[in-house]
Amino acid sequence: MTVVVGAGVAGCMAALFLREAGEEVTLVDRSHIPAGGGSGAAGAFVSPKIGKGGPLQELTNEAFAFAHRFYRERFPHAFHATGVLRIPKNLEDEERFRLYEPFNHRPYEVWDAVRAEQAGLRNVPGGFFFPEAGDADAQEICRSIGKEVGLRQMEVENLERREERWILRGAGEALEAERVVLATGYESDLLDLRYLGIKGLWGSRGDYATSQEFPISCHKDFSLSSTREGRVKLGATHVKHPTPCLVCDGRPLANLEAKAAEIAETGDFRLVETFCGMRSTSRDHFPLVGPVIDVERMLAEHPAVTRGPRPDPIHHDGLYILNGLGGRGFVFAPLMARWLAEHLTEGRPLDPRIHPDRLFRKWARRLSQTKGTK
Ligand SMILES: Cc1cc2nc3c(=O)[nH]c(=O)nc-3n(C[C@H](O)[C@H](O)[C@H](O)COP(=O)(O)OP(=O)(O)OC[C@H]3O[C@@H](n4cnc5c(N)ncnc54)[C@H](O)[C@@H]3O)c2cc1C
Repeated sequence: MTVVVGAGVAGCMAALFLREAGEEVTLVDRSHIPAGGGSGAAGAFVSPKIGKGGPLQELTNEAFAFAHRFYRERFPHAFHATGVLRIPKNLEDEERFRLYEPFNHRPYEVWDAVRAEQAGLRNVPGGFFFPEAGDADAQEICRSIGKEVGLRQMEVENLERREERWILRGAGEALEAERVVLATGYESDLLDLRYLGIKGLWGSRGDYATSQEFPISCHKDFSLSSTREGRVKLGATHVKHPTPCLVCDGRPLANLEAKAAEIAETGDFRLVETFCGMRSTSRDHFPLVGPVIDVERMLAEHPAVTRGPRPDPIHHDGLYILNGLGGRGFVFAPLMARWLAEHLTEGRPLDPRIHPDRLFRKWARRLSQTKGTK
């Protein structure tokens, strides 16, 4: 049996693909409903990455190609492929867009200011329009999966390996599993995972009632969705801070509302619901998908690893991670979960770009340079 810890989009997708591969799966979360963490706060825009090419853009766009097909086939009621317009943030960014174009995911259209105005946007120089992109109903997708797979409410406080099994302990209860997948988002304190450099970034989203009919979604340094049933979503992740309430300061959305008003008629926006959540990123911004290194054993058995040699990594038996999806959890999660399920059930090798081992050696070498590191 595999226990997946965390019922955000990463854990839900992992549980779904593992179950479909024939595995017995238990999905657990401290909350009784899925998407109680960062996933529930997400605007859940599913669009390609733009930029000057490179491995992260290629991987993101591979994941996007998989994700938009997956959502359309599996969750047609919860994925809205209205297209997403990527708008330059400022004049400098407008220049950069010219360099980005050869690397764009296809199909795309180049829009000018007039075309953007026809879509209800003002003061917008244009941008790249991706017609296959859209936004997902984050909670609806996670809750559908939770219903299909089953969700057990449990806060895992401790993980222990005993007699070839994992024992997961929570308040007054315990679960046993042959295999555990950690999909706990920015919270990564069940084991020593420092080498992965998981960091969080707070963000907020507001859902507003409006009479404005925006036919498309757009993304600048914030995201504004198309109108659906008289509502739009407005959101961004932007704040590095360990606690949410201080940064929200009671008005987490004031800044975003001002930005949205520059490009759209927001006069009648009425805030209906506010969400606040944390997204997690790995040290190199690539997803983390695969086995977890037993740091304590590795440093004890190969103390010289901090100075250069490359011994084979020692992994915790039966322990895997799916995390570090950054600001693109809804883009990455389906493909990353499928790759993890194929690895676990068919032995398909993991793509080195997402393999967590890639981060260990550099971290270990830094350890030897940082005296007093815990
Ligand atoms: C405001 C905002 C806007 C965003 N917009 C987008 C967007 O437009 N498009 C996009 O693709 N992505 C977006 N993201 C990013 C996306 O939300 C994240 O990448 C994604 O949610 C990460 O999912 P996750 O499952 O890894 O983590 P989470 O959703 O945080 O899930 C982790 C889960 O683990 C549970 N958990 C943790 N520890 C334990 C424990 N010990 N025991 C039991 N349960 C535990 C938590 O309760 C939580 O439910 C946005 C994020 C935010 C915050």
